Amino acid sequence: MSESARTRIGFIGLGKMGHGMAGRLLDAGFDVAVWNRSKAKADDLIRRGARWADSPAEAAREARAILTMVADGAASQTVWLGPEGAAMTAPAGALAIECSTVSHQHTLDMAAALRARGLVYIDCPVTGLPDAAARGELTLLVGAEPADLDQARPFLTPLSQTIRHFGAVGAGTVYKLINNLMGAIQIAGIAEGIAIAEQAGLDMALVREALLGSVVASPQVLRHAPRMIARDFSNATFTAALRHKDAVYAVQLAETLRLELPLSRAAVASYARATDAAPDDDEGKIVEVISKPYPRD
Ligand code: NAP
Repeated sequence: MSESARTRIGFIGLGKMGHGMAGRLLDAGFDVAVWNRSKAKADDLIRRGARWADSPAEAAREARAILTMVADGAASQTVWLGPEGAAMTAPAGALAIECSTVSHQHTLDMAAALRARGLVYIDCPVTGLPDAAARGELTLLVGAEPADLDQARPFLTPLSQTIRHFGAVGAGTVYKLINNLMGAIQIAGIAEGIAIAEQAGLDMALVREALLGSVVASPQVLRHAPRMIARDFSNATFTAALRHKDAVYAVQLAETLRLELPLSRAAVASYARATDAAPDDDEGKIVEVISKPYPRD
């Protein structure tokens, strides 16, 4: 189906990621109704031509597609199926495109609930930081029937040139969760190595230089090691709370597959500590929790 430039869409969730994504859809010429729990985050999008909706239900009214980008499964449940949720008004046949990172079970349950209301569900978590969202350079991790994905493409291409189709609904979320679980393990591991080097009194400028040129210099090491060594956590893009949430969802999925994953559980425990300390701070700040020596007897 070709989409006219003024096709109506609803965009729900204007946090660090959703704000940039909604902006891309506006720039692509769609008629975008936006809703966010705190309205102030919509102000500049409204100046750019977005319509403010007083509820998710209002954002979904007469929409051809509704995209959601909220924190977690609980938020997704509220914005789709709450008393003023998008599912209350979305027209039959509309696309329900869930971009938030939610649990695998939530994906399956939400797809069933929305299909029962006549909607077409697209499982569409993403990778990429907020600046990539604002530039339309996310990677989309899709679980959907091929024909459903084809219907959704006009709404996805402003967000990304890289659409990876993993299979049926749920498959995109499985991939997203393993991706972020591996990230949790790596970042917690970087923090542990740095903590040892600091406590052992190494020259941390030299450690930094050596790490960045070493075989362990994965993109996560390149990104996080310098920030951890400098204790520079400015421009938080991905928070400790979101990293913890994703690792928890991944371990829940592993349990349904009867996999015992000690490293994954350790990463969950480490990120639980980081989240208790500073949920909304950058995920790299985990080094501050890990680098505190425990007391001697
Ligand atoms: P964020 O800046 O914290 O934004 C979270 C959004 O969820 C905000 O719009 C927030 O509304 C909304 N929200 C939270 N609880 C809600 C509730 N109970 N009811 C309604 N709305 C609620 O987070 P983000 O970084 O944009 O992340 C959004 C999603 O993208 C998450 O699932 C995250 O895991 C995923 N993700 C993030 C990144 C990244 O680099 N940040 C990358 C890939 C994927 P308020 O504005 O009112 O708080």
